[in-house]
Amino acid sequence: MSDLVAPRLRFAPSPTGYLHVGGARTALFNWLLARRTGGTFLLRIEDTDKARSTDDSTRAIFEGLRWLGLDWDEEVVFQGANLPRHQADAAALLARGRAYRCFCTPEEIAERRAAAEAAGGAFAYDRRCDHLPAAEVERRVAAGTPFVVRFRVPAGETAWDDLVHERISFPNKDIDDFVILRSDGTPIYNLAVVSDDIAMRVTLVMRGDDHISNTPKQIMLYEALGAPLPRFAHLPMIHGTDGKKLSKRHGATAVGDYQHLGILAPAMVNFLALLGWSPGGDFEEVMTLDQLVHAFSTDGLLRKASVFDPKKLEWMNGQHLAKLPIHEVEALVAPHFARAGYATVDELSARRDWFHHLLEQLRVRARLVDELVAQAAPYFGETVAYAPDAVAKQWKDPAAVRPLLAAVRETLEAHLDWNPVMMEEAMRALADAKGVGAGKLLQPLRVALVGTAASPGIFDVMVLLGRDRTLRRIAAAEARLAEMAAA
Ligand code: GLU
Repeated sequence: MSDLVAPRLRFAPSPTGYLHVGGARTALFNWLLARRTGGTFLLRIEDTDKARSTDDSTRAIFEGLRWLGLDWDEEVVFQGANLPRHQADAAALLARGRAYRCFCTPEEIAERRAAAEAAGGAFAYDRRCDHLPAAEVERRVAAGTPFVVRFRVPAGETAWDDLVHERISFPNKDIDDFVILRSDGTPIYNLAVVSDDIAMRVTLVMRGDDHISNTPKQIMLYEALGAPLPRFAHLPMIHGTDGKKLSKRHGATAVGDYQHLGILAPAMVNFLALLGWSPGGDFEEVMTLDQLVHAFSTDGLLRKASVFDPKKLEWMNGQHLAKLPIHEVEALVAPHFARAGYATVDELSARRDWFHHLLEQLRVRARLVDELVAQAAPYFGETVAYAPDAVAKQWKDPAAVRPLLAAVRETLEAHLDWNPVMMEEAMRALADAKGVGAGKLLQPLRVALVGTAASPGIFDVMVLLGRDRTLRRIAAAEARLAEMAAA
């Protein structure tokens, strides 16, 4: 990594869809390396495909990056705005004799391709337009005959030392004289990318390894344009748990989907960081953004495809939920509570101590924010929904349970000091007096208070509900049990 002093890195998404997991991983690795090395992280929106690029996608990319906490340096570059430079670079290559005009029509090319394939071969452009006399080229240009610009691929081989794959080389004979400018004067991807990366002084191109076959063409363009070469790092693909390339079939692939499913940004970042990178040795998988920045190095980039396992992402989320400082959890989840209609963010912050107590109790029991929010329902509002399975199990014999709960209520009513020590002593004494185990009182009580068979410790539940609401809920349960016994 010693040659990577303050690299200039970029993330260059095409705004033709949402920010997907693979793109976010590429952005993250570039960002981590920039922050680790004191380098620069640039963002370029590759919007040259006007038919497929949308403002919504561009916005989704910005939002996704912001949500993950990946801030970019310098102004965003919109590739489409650089058209004049792309055309000037193509003109320079023509002037230097490194490219030529090709007048073959798309129909002619398609025909020759079909013929080559019918004969069992692969099509390669036969350079017929490269052999046109200069006067003929001039005549056709003057006559307004449409043409594309092709790069003349030199003999030899093109190789680079990839930071992930080590040496990669391609024999140039396998590479066609590729088009760099379409007949409408717009650049092809490889030209636009190289032109922009040169202008943005990018020194390390880190991207998915689906771009490996573009890299030799890009290297040739750098050389022909007389620009210094950047380093290249091609990141392994991301697969689903079935070993196939990650796609919609595997479920959500857009980063925004995970945000809405209740994944915390620090957990998503942590999870993405481990897709294709490892700090090496025996390492703690659960890391904060700061720890990731500190640990990140291109030495830890892996070659093998990585596996996107949603179960692991959920686990990771649970870990972050449990470990983050409580005020950070509050900031991350309060909007979800507001959306669920429990209370506004302001109301929650006005009862901060209570809310933190609630979060402390619930965060160790949930992996997803949605689960945590669902589990919080009994602590807001007056009534509680009784879960049928909990009722079937803990209120099996309503006629026997009702007087026990009445005794619990009367015992608690006798106490004004509402604290766990009092509650525990009072419940133990009551159980002894009734000659039953404490569970016989507390399990039905739990259903009365939160409606479910599982919850935080029952005394914490009572503290969170408060004295009055606890007593009202027990009374409501008694009424319900009386109805059940009568039915
Ligand atoms: N815009 C290209 C893409 O979305 C990436 C270009 C690059 O990183 O060189 O795949």
